[in-house]
Amino acid sequence: MSGKISLDECRIRGESGLGKSTLVNSLFLTDLYKDKRFLNTEERITQTVDITKHSVEIEEKGVRLRLTIVDTPGFGDAINNEECWKQVADYLDQQFEQYFRDESGLNRKNIADNRIHCCLYFISPFGHGLRPLDVEFMKAVHEKVNIVPLLAKADTLTPAEVSKMKPKIRAEIKSYGIKIYQFPECDSDEDEEFKRQDQELKDSIPFTVIGSNTVVEAKGKRVRGRLYPWGIVEVENPAHCDFVRLRNMLIRTHMQDLKDVTRDVHYENYRAQCIQSMTRMVVKERNRNKLTRDSGTDFPIPIISGVTDNEAEKIIREKDEELRRMQEMLQKIQQQMHSQNSDGL
Ligand code: GDP
Repeated sequence: MSGKISLDECRIRGESGLGKSTLVNSLFLTDLYKDKRFLNTEERITQTVDITKHSVEIEEKGVRLRLTIVDTPGFGDAINNEECWKQVADYLDQQFEQYFRDESGLNRKNIADNRIHCCLYFISPFGHGLRPLDVEFMKAVHEKVNIVPLLAKADTLTPAEVSKMKPKIRAEIKSYGIKIYQFPECDSDEDEEFKRQDQELKDSIPFTVIGSNTVVEAKGKRVRGRLYPWGIVEVENPAHCDFVRLRNMLIRTHMQDLKDVTRDVHYENYRAQCIQSMTRMVVKERNRNKLTRDSGTDFPIPIISGVTDNEAEKIIREKDEELRRMQEMLQKIQQQMHSQNSDGL
C-alpha cells in the first residue's frame, strides 16, 4: 500500500527539560532540534512561551505521512506560570479560526488543514502526580484538542513506582474533570485478542516514555537507548516503556480517529460558538440600527469619550464593515448547511 496522508498536526506540551525534544526525535527518527539553544537561568525565567513548527515526512509500511510538530519551548519556565497556557489556547483557536475562514470562503477545495489533532502532554516523573500547572493547562485546552498524557523520563521510575503512578494520574484526571482523548469503544464482536490489546492500550494511560538521541549496543543489537553504568534502557523495548505503543497508536492505529474527533467534536464546538456569537452580534446591530432609525438619527453615533467626530465616524465605518463581513460569512455558512442538509435527504 502506498499513498500520502495530508498534513497532520501534533502538539507537544509539557514543562522544559522533561525530554520533549528528545522524544520527538526518537518518535520520528530524526533530529528536529539540532539548532536548539540551551538557555541560561536568567533567560529561562524571563522568556515567554514560544511556538515553533517542524515538518517531518516519515514512511510507515509504504505509507508516506507528513506531520507537523508544534512545540512550545519555555512552557513552565517563568516564575509566574499562571497564564502560560493562554498562548497555547490562543494558538489552537487561531488554527480553527483560519480553517473556519477558509471553509466559509470561495476556495474551499484547497484548504490547508493546520488544526492540531493531538497534544502530547508531558507529566513530570518527579512529582507525586499532577501538579497545579498540569491541571490548569489541560483544563484550558481539553475542549480544543485531543490530549494524550505521557509520563516523561520513565527510566527514572521503578516498575513499582510506575504501577502506582499511572492509576493515580488517571484518577486525578477524572477527579479534576479533565477530558483527555478517549480511545474509541471496542466492538463487542471483535475477537478476544483484539479486545485484550485494546484494554491494555487504555490501561497504559499515561504512556510512559523514554527518549534518546543515541544508538547503543544491547545484546549485540544497535538500539536507541540510554547507557547507564548499571545497564541500558531501550526506548523501543516494551518492557522498559510504552514508546512503541504510543508510536503505533499515533501513526498507525488511531491517527484517523484523532482527526475525526478534532473535526467532529473540537472544531464543531468552535464553529458552533462562532456562529452563535456572530448571530448575536448581527441581531444586536440590527436592533441598534432600528432604534436609531426610529429616533430619527441618520446613523448610530456611539458615545466614545475623547474622540473627535471624524474618529467616531471612522470607528463606525470599520464596525459596519466588520458586521457586513460577518453577515456575509453567516449567510454562506447557512447556505452551506442548507445544501448539506438537502444533499443528505
Ligand atoms: P525539553 O526541554 O523538554 O525538550 O527536554 P530535552 O529533550 O532537551 O531533554 C532535557 C534533558 O533530559 C537532556 O539532557 C536529555 O538528554 C534528558 N532526557 C531526555 N529524555 C530523557 C529520558 O527519557 N530519560 C532521562 N533520564 N533523561 C532524558
